[in-house]
Amino acid sequence: MADPKVTKCVVVGAGPVGALAALYAARRGWHVEVYELRGDLRDASTTPLNFTKSINLALSERGINAMRHSQSPSLLDKVLSETIPMYGRMIHGQDSAGKLTEESQQYDVHGRFIRAVDRANLNKLLLDEVDRLPNVKLHFNHKLTGADFRKRKAWFEKKSSGGPQTADGAQAHQDQVDEKDPEELEVNFDLLLGCDGAHSSVRYHLMKSLRMNYEQSYIDTLWCEFTIPPASSTLSTSPSAKQGFATSPNHLHIWPSDDKMFIAIPSTDKSLTCTLFAPSASFATLEQTPSRVKGFFTTNFPGAADLIGPAELRNQFESNPHLPLISIKCSPHHYTSSCVILGDAAHAMVPFYGQGMNAGLEDVRVLFQHLDRQTANLAGREAALTSYSLERVPDAHAINDLALANYFEMHSAVTSPLYLFRKKIEEF
Ligand code: FAD
Repeated sequence: MADPKVTKCVVVGAGPVGALAALYAARRGWHVEVYELRGDLRDASTTPLNFTKSINLALSERGINAMRHSQSPSLLDKVLSETIPMYGRMIHGQDSAGKLTEESQQYDVHGRFIRAVDRANLNKLLLDEVDRLPNVKLHFNHKLTGADFRKRKAWFEKKSSGGPQTADGAQAHQDQVDEKDPEELEVNFDLLLGCDGAHSSVRYHLMKSLRMNYEQSYIDTLWCEFTIPPASSTLSTSPSAKQGFATSPNHLHIWPSDDKMFIAIPSTDKSLTCTLFAPSASFATLEQTPSRVKGFFTTNFPGAADLIGPAELRNQFESNPHLPLISIKCSPHHYTSSCVILGDAAHAMVPFYGQGMNAGLEDVRVLFQHLDRQTANLAGREAALTSYSLERVPDAHAINDLALANYFEMHSAVTSPLYLFRKKIEEF
């Protein structure tokens, strides 16, 4: 029987933030139960979270530091060994004579860098770490359907594994999951951590218990994933091709174009995972006439189409989902001593600052810093959650705003004469 003096912590969502939160809670000796809507992404049959295949993210010090403090000494080494350093942006363009141009803009005069990480792989490593601990139970294919934060009870529907999966996760509505004969489960908890992403059910139920301010907006930009395959010819003498990549592996590549942008991030399999960001009207035009995809790329992102190949370019545009971008701010992030929301559930942001997941991982570190400062009883936990919300809400709002501001910087300001002049002065 469970020791009544030990905190029982329910974590909803086993994305990167939920997995790290479970790890932090388990390292404090709590009984931890994780409930995840989808199947275990470590099973080959499970569609990776959110995306068609996988997606590469920029992992920065904010996220790294959160893993460093997880009391799991080998975790960070494992994660970092499967990342690729990106020392700066590579801005792609074309000069007036039609020649393709590349300009490397270093992130830091001291050579510091951010890292490209495969999101699914990072999530798997976190889940492996959690799974090793005896005081954690992982429940996949369990969907939160209700919660009473006063009575500290949550309800989950268990669906048979192997059932239908959605592929668009964080940016899609989880209600699309088709339940066949679901089994309902009632679960008690002392503390519930809501890490269930942008369309959080925990947040929805939390709103019924407290006066939460909530703001949600979609920007008029959709995104679609593409892949640049590894370099086809090993005979090429270019430094990138020698390493097996079609273009420099140590940059975050940007093809800026007014209200559109194409970016590419290196993968350890020597491909580059790319994202097209463009207004919904551009997507609508191309969806109606996909034969225009190649021309659209040639006009807006010179050189990018050749790295993918025209047939693949069209094929990937047609087969990969076209997804929206949501921005969410809310306050507070907690309810008394019984619930707190973290990650995208608390502050989904547009991806242009590369900080959504990093900020979510940081939430976990900051939350447990507050919990560790207080006594392990109800009053202490309520004080910790209150001080956490007070500190974290303004930070989350600030990073949300910065993410949006960086959108304008990335898709056009990086080529403005003023920006380039400022960079030269900084380098000098
Ligand atoms: P999620 O990853 O959405 O995980 C939530 C989990 O909860 C999912 O597994 C879901 O299945 C589960 N769930 C949902 N509802 C329920 C329910 N009712 N019951 C049980 N479980 C449930 N961030 C960066 O830091 N760097 C980047 O470079 C970056 N690039 C990005 C590029 C794009 C195109 C996009 C769209 C996002 C990017 N992000 C980036 C943001 C990053 O992907 C998210 O911030 C991060 O995935 C959030 O993690 P999370 O664990 O909070 O939520």
